[in-house]
Amino acid sequence: MVARTVPVPPFDLVVFGATGDLARRKLIPALYRRLRAGQMPTDARIVGAARSALDDEGFRAQAAEALEEFVPAAEREQNTVDAFLATLSYVAVDAMSDSGWSELRAVLEARTGGDRVRAFYLSVAPRFFAPIAARIAGSGIGGSEGRVVIEKPLGHDLASARELNDELSKHFPECRVYRIDHYLGKETVQNLMALRFANALFEPVWNAQHVDHVQITVAESVGVAGRGGYYDQNGAMRDMVQNHLLQLLCLIAMEPPSQFGPDDVRDEKLKVLRALSMPDIRSEVVRGQYRAANGTASYVDDAGNPDSTTECFVAMKTGIANWRWAGVPFYLRTGKRLRARISEIAVVFKAVPHWIFSGQGGGDAHQNVLAIRVQPDEGITLGMTIKEPGPGGMRLLDADLDMTFAERLGPSISIPDAYERLVMDVIRGDQTLFMRGDEVEAAWAWIDPIIAAWEERGARPSLYDPGSSGPEDALMLMHRDGRRWREIAS
Ligand code: NAP
Repeated sequence: MVARTVPVPPFDLVVFGATGDLARRKLIPALYRRLRAGQMPTDARIVGAARSALDDEGFRAQAAEALEEFVPAAEREQNTVDAFLATLSYVAVDAMSDSGWSELRAVLEARTGGDRVRAFYLSVAPRFFAPIAARIAGSGIGGSEGRVVIEKPLGHDLASARELNDELSKHFPECRVYRIDHYLGKETVQNLMALRFANALFEPVWNAQHVDHVQITVAESVGVAGRGGYYDQNGAMRDMVQNHLLQLLCLIAMEPPSQFGPDDVRDEKLKVLRALSMPDIRSEVVRGQYRAANGTASYVDDAGNPDSTTECFVAMKTGIANWRWAGVPFYLRTGKRLRARISEIAVVFKAVPHWIFSGQGGGDAHQNVLAIRVQPDEGITLGMTIKEPGPGGMRLLDADLDMTFAERLGPSISIPDAYERLVMDVIRGDQTLFMRGDEVEAAWAWIDPIIAAWEERGARPSLYDPGSSGPEDALMLMHRDGRRWREIAS
C-alpha cells in the first residue's frame, strides 16, 4: 500500500545567502530533486538573496554549476534542469543595510495569492539571523504567515541561545520558526520513530529492564583544516553534541507521544533533555585532540592555535532520570579525523538471564544489538544470535537481520537527502522534525555546566592518532563498565 503524500502548496522561498556553500551544496540540489520528483508546484518561486551583484541569469548560471557539481549526471535531464532554473530569480540584498529590501518586496509582491506560502531560509552566518528577521518584519514582506528557517549554530551557550530566541520571537511566533537539525531529516532517523511507534514488538523491551546501554557515535574522518579558526571557538561539544547527538538521544529515549504532531513530539523530546543526568567531569567525560602523524597536521596546527585546549573529540557517559531509563548508561562519542565517517546509534540489549549453551561450544552469552546507521549507507540492523548450520554442537554466531527492507521497497527506491524532506516540510507547515526554541535552550542548559567545569579545571585534551577510534581514555570509559564501543568502520 502506498501512503498518501501531503501536497505542497504554491510558494515563494527566499534564500538569504544563496551564493554561499550551504545553498550551493545542499539547498539548490535538494530543491531541484523535489521538482524532478514532481513535488514542486508549477508556480513555485525560489528567490536568491545575497550582497553579490548578480542578475537572474547570473544566479541561474551559478545554480546550474551547483547542479553539475552536486547532482549526478543521470539525474540531470536538460528539460528538468531548465524547468528548475526557470523558478529561480535573484535580488541583491544586504542584511545590514536598507539596500535591496524594496526590490525584494517588489519581486515578492509581483505574485501573491490566497494560500501562497512565503518562507525565508537564512543560509547566512548566525550573526545575521536577528537583523534579517527584523528587516523581513520591518519591510512588511514577512506578512502574518511568513516562515523563517535557521540552522546551527543556534547560540554559543544558553545566554546567547535565549537572546536569539528572544530576538526572533519579536518578529516570528514560535509556530513560524523552523530550526533545522538535518539529522532529523534523515530517512533512517524517521524510520527509528516508525520502528518504535508503529510496531508493538519493541516497546515492551525498550526500557531499563531489557536495555543494557545505548551508544551514539558521530565520527568524522576529516579534520578541521579550512575551518579551524571557526571550529576552535566552538569544539565538539558545542558543534555536535549540543545538537545532533542530543537530538538522536531524544528520539531513542522519548516516551511515545499521543500523536505524531509537532508539539506532541517536541514536548516528549524536551522531557528527555530536562531529565539528562550530569556526568562526573573527571571520570565520565573524555576530551581529545588528534595529534600529527605521517605528515598530517595536528588539530592545533589545523586550528592555527598552538595553545588550543578546544576538544575536537568528546566521549561521555550520561543517563536519563526517569522510570524508563533509570540506571541505563547512554554513551556519546563524536570526533574529527577518526577511522571512518559514520553516524550510528546502537541499542544494546541485556543478555539472556541464564545462558544454557556454555557447555556446548556456545561461548559466553551474546547480546542483541539494534543498530541504526544514520550515515553513510542509511539502514537498520538487528543483531541476532543464531546457530551455525551443520553438525558439531551448538556453535553460535551473531548475524545481522537487515531491516532496511530494500527488497520490499524495490531496487529503484532512492533515499532523499535530509534537506529535501525538511525544506518541503517548511512549505507544508509541518514543524515535527524541527527543534523548538525551548529544546535548544534545554540542550544548552545541560551543556553549559560541563564546558564551565572543563574551563575551571583547565585540563588539556587527551591526544589521539588520526585514523584511530579516539583517545585511550575513551576506550577506558567503557572498559571500566565492562562494555566496549562498537567499531568505527564504514
Ligand atoms: P558561506 O558560504 O560563508 O555563505 C554565506 C552567504 O551569506 C553568502 O551567500 C554571502 O553572500 C551571504 N552574505 C554575507 N554577508 C551578507 C550580508 N550582509 N547580507 C546578505 N547576505 C550576506 O556560509 P555557509 O557555509 O553557506 O553557511 C550558511 C549558514 O549555514 C551558516 O549559519 C552556517 O553555520 C550554516 N551551516 C552551513 C553548513 C554547510 O554545510 N555549509 C552546514 C550546517 C550549517 P554575499 O557575499 O554575496 O553577500
